[in-house]
Amino acid sequence: MLGTIISSQEAIALEEKFGAHNYHPLPVVLSKGEGVFLWDVDGKRYYDFLSAYSAVNQGHCHPRILQALFDQAKELTLTSRAFYNDKLGVAEKYVCELFCYEKALFMNSGAEANETAIKLARKWGYTRKGIPDNKAIIVAVRQNFHGRTTGVISASSESSAREGFGPFLPGFEIVDYDDVQVLERALAHPHVCALWIEPIQGEAGVYVPAEGYLRRAADICRKNNVLLMVDEIQTGIARTGKNLACDYENVRPDILILGKALSGGVFPISLVLANDDIMLVIKPGEHGSTFGGNPLAAVVCMEALAVVKDEKLAENAYRLGFIFRDRMTELMKRTHLITKVRGKGLLNAIVINDSPESGTAWNICLALAKRGLLAKPTHGNIIRLAPPLVITEDQIHECCDIIEHCILSYSK
Ligand code: PLP
Repeated sequence: MLGTIISSQEAIALEEKFGAHNYHPLPVVLSKGEGVFLWDVDGKRYYDFLSAYSAVNQGHCHPRILQALFDQAKELTLTSRAFYNDKLGVAEKYVCELFCYEKALFMNSGAEANETAIKLARKWGYTRKGIPDNKAIIVAVRQNFHGRTTGVISASSESSAREGFGPFLPGFEIVDYDDVQVLERALAHPHVCALWIEPIQGEAGVYVPAEGYLRRAADICRKNNVLLMVDEIQTGIARTGKNLACDYENVRPDILILGKALSGGVFPISLVLANDDIMLVIKPGEHGSTFGGNPLAAVVCMEALAVVKDEKLAENAYRLGFIFRDRMTELMKRTHLITKVRGKGLLNAIVINDSPESGTAWNICLALAKRGLLAKPTHGNIIRLAPPLVITEDQIHECCDIIEHCILSYSK
């Protein structure tokens, strides 16, 4: 059974029967990836316009990242943090120097990194800011997405993320995104230890806040002795056309949270970065993870980040992002089906002119898949378009042609 080639129908039936029904995938069964392309079990080739939710910025199965993985896997994969290993410190130095922080804490999933950030912010609040015990408040924003753990969803405003999963963790206040007035009020409360924010809300549908919002938010945090805790799990590692989306406004978060493309999609690696005065509030035995900081992750992460730099992926995403949005904006003028085009770099979305329940965006994605491009709706009527950052200008144009054809020939 293991390794046997199965048909699409068999693969889907197996997942349906034996897998939990916690996702609703498009009916495409993928078996191979390389660069910007994916292939299904029948050998049909697709452009990947989801990039595993921006985990595969470096392209599928990048040879340098795979080589680093294989080489290290033959030597040592996991020791736990009960002992030192010869790769973790090297990787910690690498990421600290790259992102300009004093300390790094490796975890695995994005949600775990966010949980780590919550603990850091709270402990900092009690031990440094002098917030009374158990009174710390983290200000989060509406429509955030930081993962699926019970702690993280306690700060969610989405009923699909929360319903049936309570009781929730106390200590969060939710305010409107992209509104500096509410931040002025909320962050002034003396029990607030952190503002927790995405520079662009990816899962919510690629919401880009007004220019200057992040800068103002950082200033209000500083004024109130509140930590700025930025989740760049989806926007980071060159996705939006800069190394970090925060770079657009010269903002340096007090706590930076990274994940996804840290491994180029090879396996889960996440990371929290902060300076000593924040990171060292956590003492031995107070936080950790068996797999966090394993030598395989350390080596893969360094190689994945080196690829981003060597292949100038931020520059490519920046340049091609304009071409892509220009083409989509032109298309919007020719159809009533698109009401908005938005994004930065190669994290973009089009908003479909129909209700989230209508199925129109889903059907457009099915039509796109038929013509060899994979994308998925978010929130019903928004289609996120985020290819691997190794995509070329010619390929971007070819993909815009596919999208244009599907939208213009779409009928219910
Ligand atoms: N934070 C952001 C901004 C994300 O986009 C995601 C995943 O989409 C997460 C956190 C959660 O990451 P993970 O699925 O690795 O737990």
